[in-house]
Amino acid sequence: MQNFILLLSYLIGSISFIVGLKMLSHPDTARKGNLYAAVGMTIAILATIFLYKDDSGNYLGNYPWIFGGLIIGTVIGTMMAKRVQMTGMPQMVSLFNGMGGACAAIISIVEFKHLMHKQANTETTSTITEALNSIIKLVTTYSNPSLILFTILLGLVIGTVSFFGSMIAFGKLNGNLNDRTLPAQQVINIGLLLIIVGLLAAMVTGFTGIDITVLFWALFGVSALYGILFVMPIGGADMPVVISLLNSFTGVAAACGGFLYSNPVMLTGGILVGSAGTILTILMCKAMNRSLTNVIVGAFGGNKNGAAQQEVGGAYKEISMSDTAVLMAYSKRIVIVPGYGLAVAQAQHICHELEKVLEEKEVEVTYAIHPVAGRMPGHMNVLLAEADVPYEKLKEMEEINPEFAQTDVVLILGANDVVNPAAKNDPASPIYGMPILEVEDAKHVIVNKRSMKPGYAGIENALFFQPKTSMLFGDAKKVLQDLVAELKAL
Ligand code: NDP
Repeated sequence: MQNFILLLSYLIGSISFIVGLKMLSHPDTARKGNLYAAVGMTIAILATIFLYKDDSGNYLGNYPWIFGGLIIGTVIGTMMAKRVQMTGMPQMVSLFNGMGGACAAIISIVEFKHLMHKQANTETTSTITEALNSIIKLVTTYSNPSLILFTILLGLVIGTVSFFGSMIAFGKLNGNLNDRTLPAQQVINIGLLLIIVGLLAAMVTGFTGIDITVLFWALFGVSALYGILFVMPIGGADMPVVISLLNSFTGVAAACGGFLYSNPVMLTGGILVGSAGTILTILMCKAMNRSLTNVIVGAFGGNKNGAAQQEVGGAYKEISMSDTAVLMAYSKRIVIVPGYGLAVAQAQHICHELEKVLEEKEVEVTYAIHPVAGRMPGHMNVLLAEADVPYEKLKEMEEINPEFAQTDVVLILGANDVVNPAAKNDPASPIYGMPILEVEDAKHVIVNKRSMKPGYAGIENALFFQPKTSMLFGDAKKVLQDLVAELKAL
């Protein structure tokens, strides 16, 4: 009976996770979806703690440790989630993702010790034929110890890469770490990947005869180094791809744990996170016009040929608040381009207010959403959904780009890299090749930001110096408040 309840709670956990994930795909249902998945997982965790018995019929025990950890984790997690600013979310997501990777790596370390304990004398293989036979056995026999070892090692490699990579991503998003590229970075990264594959093969087949524990820690060290070196040089505007890739790594590492423990809910959760992360990575690669291989070997998105970037500069013109209000009030079509600065200013609510005031004046307003605007995948969708902007008003880049030519005014709010023409015109630019919002096709472009400083990629933007562009300087929230007041007074 107990076993039946345990399996039932795993089923509930798995189903709630799938349903929750599905509901996350729309802002109206996302909050509930998150709650369903969390409740399902809590049921599965509690059932494991109280109902799971090992082969000898013993319960898990260790309750003070388990609940001590759960309480500390819950308090820290809740405090962090309550205190985090919207602009700090990407860093927090990276940190939490890294924790998932670390858990998977720790499971592998513990289970490796158990396995070694069980097989005090691991067979060593001395000929290539015997090594090949081990590999054949590995892929054909489910309960083969080599398969268990392989799963442990895979969890170790992927979990470790995910943890160290996520920590570097955290430091970069937080502004504590800069992009750093070693000479021959790609060669080093490929070399590290080959060493990882070699160590995996050596350990599973026992071919080298070297103490397996030494190889295990060497594998851990090389994986950690690869995790650091593959994220460290990612520059320009390519971080989003790496973030979603690390996310999928954590899912796969968790799935290895689920496979190891024959735990269906851990397996389902891991596979879902792994596959969702992989799909997101592929979509991000497509959006950024990058190849996945380049991401994995690292050092992409930089200026490879060492050519000088095109000079950008000259005179720019400013526009006053009243002129902006008049121009917008007498427009037929306006497209708002939200960017990271809108999130910094927390100006999403007043932005929605502006949209409503304009619509009262019979101006058609839509939002142009670039896939990497902000600092995390879907950042702008979340931000605008928080302010109740109707979802139908958000248009993806491919959909909106052909419409700019029929647009009277584009209002850019705290966006920079996603509208930088260097991505099209300057092969030496770190963002070269990334598709951008083609705002230059509109009749007027108004850019709101606080200064002429660059955005995340750290490069100048020629758009700001073009004849049809006017700068409207100031904090986005304050500027929008003044603009709404001005429009209401017209
Ligand atoms: P950018 O980072 O290119 O530019 C943001 C601009 O906002 C800055 O130029 C800044 O200029 C302005 N700004 C900052 N604060 C305010 C404020 N309070 N009011 C008004 N303006 C403000 O943002 P984009 O959204 O255009 O591009 C996103 C970039 O981040 C891309 O390079 C992307 O690759 C990268 N990235 C994206 C991730 C994702 O998953 N989406 C993850 C990691 C990186 P000023 O200081 O002059 O005000």
